Amino acid sequence: MKLGLGGIVLAVVAYFIGGPELVMSLFSGGGSAPQSEQQAPTGTASDEAGQFVKHVLGDTEDTWNKIFAQAGRQYEPAQLSIFDDGINTACGQASSAVGPFYCPNDRMVYIDLAFFRQLETEFAAQGDYAKAYVIAHEIGHHIQNLTGTLEKVHAAKQRGSEADANALQVRVELQADCYAGIWAHDSETSRQLTEAGDIDEALTAAASVGDDTIQRRVQGHVNQESFTHGSAAQRQQWFHKGYSSGSVDDCNTFQ
Ligand SMILES: [Zn+2]
Repeated sequence: MKLGLGGIVLAVVAYFIGGPELVMSLFSGGGSAPQSEQQAPTGTASDEAGQFVKHVLGDTEDTWNKIFAQAGRQYEPAQLSIFDDGINTACGQASSAVGPFYCPNDRMVYIDLAFFRQLETEFAAQGDYAKAYVIAHEIGHHIQNLTGTLEKVHAAKQRGSEADANALQVRVELQADCYAGIWAHDSETSRQLTEAGDIDEALTAAASVGDDTIQRRVQGHVNQESFTHGSAAQRQQWFHKGYSSGSVDDCNTFQ
């Protein structure tokens, strides 16, 4: 694994797991505060859903501590913020509809518990492991931040067209999926944390947040040039690649 310098990351872009409509809401930033629906709060850091998030996050730390140590580096864990309504971040204002995301500026993973409920209803991705995959994917972006990949991609995006920038973002997302697969591999082989059906839950979740799946659902047709996360098939493929090999060297989506 080629681990570059940590350095200061100036990227002001957040990386999402969700579709284009989710991206817009944060990128527009600064505008009117998003309206949240009248809804009883159903998830906080201290309840069961919050405890689950912390547990998975802790497990990803076991994995990445080890991998970084093997590369002679110390892993610096991401911070966690759990929210169920709008939240202000170093990457801008996020609405509750934004979904989980990672903000490189404050090295924080923001987990939107409302999205976890959505995963089961709108995305039809059931089970704890679907949520675990989402968390591990966001940590994948944190790894990309620590290794300097996000910074490089951010710079490259400034030089290209919007289509080029989208294509680069797809590679970023697929690599985060591959890193999530690496966590699943290590969690299973080192700590026996996976049960029968878990990997299928993750693969179903990966497909459900594929750009083609989301576009078909939201706009009724698929426009490949606007993809920012990769197709369902690509997302499954890269998660599975990381899961099968367990090696970061097999996660080079930029080749
Ligand atoms: Zn992502």
